Amino acid sequence: MIEKCFRGKWAAVFLCVVLIAAAMAGLAGCSRKYGEISLTEAAGQAETDAGAVAAQEEENKALMLEDAEGIQAAESQAVADLSEVESDLTTASGFSDVDETVYITDDLVNIRSGCGTEYSIVARLNRGDSVKRTGSSEGWSRILYHDEVCYVMSEYVSTENPDEANVTALENRAAAQETVASNGIIVAIDAGHQAKGNSEKEPIGPGSSTMKAKVASGAVGVVTKLPEYQLTLDVSEKVKRILEERGYQVVMIRETNDVNMSNAERAQIANESGASVFVRIHANSLDSSTVHGTLSMCQTADNPYNGGLHAQSYSLSKIITDAICAATGSKNRGVQETDTMSGINWCTIPVTIVEMGFMSNPEEDQKMAQDEYQELIAAGIANGIDAYFGK
Ligand SMILES: [Zn+2]
Repeated sequence: MIEKCFRGKWAAVFLCVVLIAAAMAGLAGCSRKYGEISLTEAAGQAETDAGAVAAQEEENKALMLEDAEGIQAAESQAVADLSEVESDLTTASGFSDVDETVYITDDLVNIRSGCGTEYSIVARLNRGDSVKRTGSSEGWSRILYHDEVCYVMSEYVSTENPDEANVTALENRAAAQETVASNGIIVAIDAGHQAKGNSEKEPIGPGSSTMKAKVASGAVGVVTKLPEYQLTLDVSEKVKRILEERGYQVVMIRETNDVNMSNAERAQIANESGASVFVRIHANSLDSSTVHGTLSMCQTADNPYNGGLHAQSYSLSKIITDAICAATGSKNRGVQETDTMSGINWCTIPVTIVEMGFMSNPEEDQKMAQDEYQELIAAGIANGIDAYFGK
């Protein structure tokens, strides 16, 4: 949703506002901060049917309304705090002149006519949109939007294109592969999900006409509200550290939440990484709050894409699940065989999805959010990998 900077008879009024703002900005930068993002995770969960898409649109509309109220609240707050704002203006450092392209790092970021939330919103830009930055201060950036001077909070712009984070991930992986495993074994670890799901479709397996959403943003802790993508990354980093201490080389599919990598892409990266096994780390969620415990998943022996990997994948799944349960005392829910997972079907190496526990179970959610419990899970996964390779 983008509004034009200038429109009809209001042009002169807006022009004045912009000129005054530009003049103020020339004197001083702004440092006050208010929330500047409109939509949160609405688009996160991947939905596959048309009904869900329609529902999502309704939800988006509702969120936009909520957001409009949020802006009003922020603006009245800004007016109420005017004296404080003025005091900030006199103490803040000025804009330093720059001439560079910057990228918006989130969706529906407000672009304002002046450097303060009391100024009108002239546009909302989305993640990956680029603008020219002409001035930079700690709080605000002065930008050119449709050749007009506008302002955006500096925390929502970056000189790095967020959609090129994948490239960085690839470079990190290439660097990791330069270090040779002292025990000769490479393990690929995928921290499940990412900050924002991607509901675009991809084939569920090589050559398949069955399509599935590329990647979901995952579950959320019923008590802790911890997002699954953060939990999986926290545990994956611990697994990496432990495995490297034991002489393995670890290929991390992602090392930040800010990526956009489909489940099929993750599998293909693992395939090409030189890894002997692919361990996908996830946490579970159900409508029931009573179900708890650890399980893992692999393909069936009849999987049309990689059924030949079933025996090894089953063995990897079972041995890791058993080792996690031994380390944590979690209830062992065994191995589930399924051919519905793109991230398994695209694999050409033995693969397992480890569901560490249920984020829908209050007790298990709270345990999994703890650093010490995550260490136990990570040690269990590493012990399982050791056992799989006969170490
Ligand atoms: Zn998951």
